[in-house]
Amino acid sequence: MASAAKKPKLSTSSLSVTAETGKNVEEFMKALQTKRETTADSILKYNFNKKRIRIISREQMVPDDCEGIVYWMSRDSRVQDNWAFLFAQKLALKNEVPLHVCFCLIAKYLDASVRQFHFLVKGLEKVAADCKKLNISFHLLEGSGAEVLPQWVIDHKIGAVVCDFNPLRVPLGWLEGVKKDLKKDVPLIQVDAHNVVPCWVASDKQEYSARTIRNKINSKLDEYLSEFPPVIKHPYTSKFEPEPIDWDNAIETREADKTVGPVEWAKPGYDEALKMLKSFIDKRLKIYATKRNDPTQDALSNMSPWFHFGQISVQRVALCVQEYKSKYTESVNAFLEEAIVRRELADNFCFYCEHYDSVKGASNWAQKTLDDHRKDKRSHIYTLETLSKSETHDDLWNSAQLQLVKEGKMHGFLRMYWCKKILEWTPSPEDALKYAIYLNDHYSIDGRDPSGFVGCMWSICGIHDQGWAERAVFGKIRYMNYDGCKRKFDIKAFIARYGGKVHKYVPAKAGK
Ligand SMILES: Cc1cc2nc3c(=O)[nH]c(=O)nc-3n(C[C@H](O)[C@H](O)[C@H](O)COP(=O)(O)OP(=O)(O)OC[C@H]3O[C@@H](n4cnc5c(N)ncnc54)[C@H](O)[C@@H]3O)c2cc1C
Repeated sequence: MASAAKKPKLSTSSLSVTAETGKNVEEFMKALQTKRETTADSILKYNFNKKRIRIISREQMVPDDCEGIVYWMSRDSRVQDNWAFLFAQKLALKNEVPLHVCFCLIAKYLDASVRQFHFLVKGLEKVAADCKKLNISFHLLEGSGAEVLPQWVIDHKIGAVVCDFNPLRVPLGWLEGVKKDLKKDVPLIQVDAHNVVPCWVASDKQEYSARTIRNKINSKLDEYLSEFPPVIKHPYTSKFEPEPIDWDNAIETREADKTVGPVEWAKPGYDEALKMLKSFIDKRLKIYATKRNDPTQDALSNMSPWFHFGQISVQRVALCVQEYKSKYTESVNAFLEEAIVRRELADNFCFYCEHYDSVKGASNWAQKTLDDHRKDKRSHIYTLETLSKSETHDDLWNSAQLQLVKEGKMHGFLRMYWCKKILEWTPSPEDALKYAIYLNDHYSIDGRDPSGFVGCMWSICGIHDQGWAERAVFGKIRYMNYDGCKRKFDIKAFIARYGGKVHKYVPAKAGK
């Protein structure tokens, strides 16, 4: 058990990786590139699985006289191991035209703070540098895809737009906007570059729980959990230069809370993601199965920031981790369950349930039970401000909130406890959901993600869960409490590490 005074191991020290195999990160990176190159010389020599794509436009054919293909990058900001990027290069190679990447940067996104914009933009800066080495132009456009992409396509005589997939409402709205305004002879093609099994292939409906989707996903892994070919140096050069990009200015000009800044332990970009992956495999994977629910232990992969921004492919990580299946069977199985089945279940929920962030998205039994207990007396009622300042009467909850604010990521086990307490301490399930989503999206680097919406919906609305013994406020929604945490791990050590205090409860005045 970690001593109380010990700093969390989420520090740069866990990034200085020396592999068991003796390889450093550069060698690890090179080994992955060799794997890609032995898989195929390029995407033209690779049998691309067409089920990964959806043609969004009516037009399917690239016009003969076009002068380029664009990959409209959004959720998956990386070059290698990206099926959308690969498909765009395939079209560009076939048509013998230049390949462009456009990222459309908006001023404000949900409750994102500078912390998340910094992670995104600094990651894109590395993507742009990698693109340059591969003779692919990278463009940072100001505004949403819907606002700026259709005209950019006309101005540069682009013959096809390839985009990645995001099941959330706002990006789906951008997709609709591009579809509506895109030149009619230009195909718009979407590729699910985020999930191992494309969301629409895994299931064509909202799944009830992990139990109902597990086999649908796992039975398709032979087909989809495959090696990637490389994105290669592009042989056709663009006739025009991309506009120069002021990366720091791109961060500073976002309409985002500047008081929530970047964190030390998680640095953006593919190379940093690989370092984290390597340290997970070398140091933490062996205890993942047994210790991942203990917030005082350093047992998690910590990959979620890079997964969220698509700076590394989950499929690549799964391929690397599963090489250790015979050595750490239980840990590897547990990790693949989380990173593939649970994560893809979250995409399934957000894709098929339009109310993915509202109590209306809960099952009938859950809506009924929450409603039955709507008027139950709450032991404590906190405002969003008190919650965000970690000033509740519960030192464990406050410590978890402090971890979120300081480090930009709360331990997975405590995320459940934290969110359930918000249900217990707010006037209604609607308020609880609103506050939980806000806090998660504002502070967590991996927030604004299907897994975040589903995590909050699971905790407050029983999504993908079953009914439990009925009690006040929660009704039949699963309950968690302080004593239960005490039985699971050394809560004193966790509290000492983050410094959460017991604050005196001052009931909020009516109407506040
Ligand atoms: C209230 C609440 C809020 C959450 N908010 C987010 C969020 O904003 N973003 C986010 O990515 N995850 C969220 N989760 C899910 C989960 O807690 C995190 O994915 C996990 O803690 C990330 O840390 P890790 O990468 O070290 O996890 P690991 O345990 O190492 O897991 C590896 C990967 O598996 C996936 N995964 C793990 N647990 C889950 C899960 N329960 N559901 C779906 N996918 C999972 C993630 O992609 C994760 O990166 C939330 C869960 C709850 C209960």
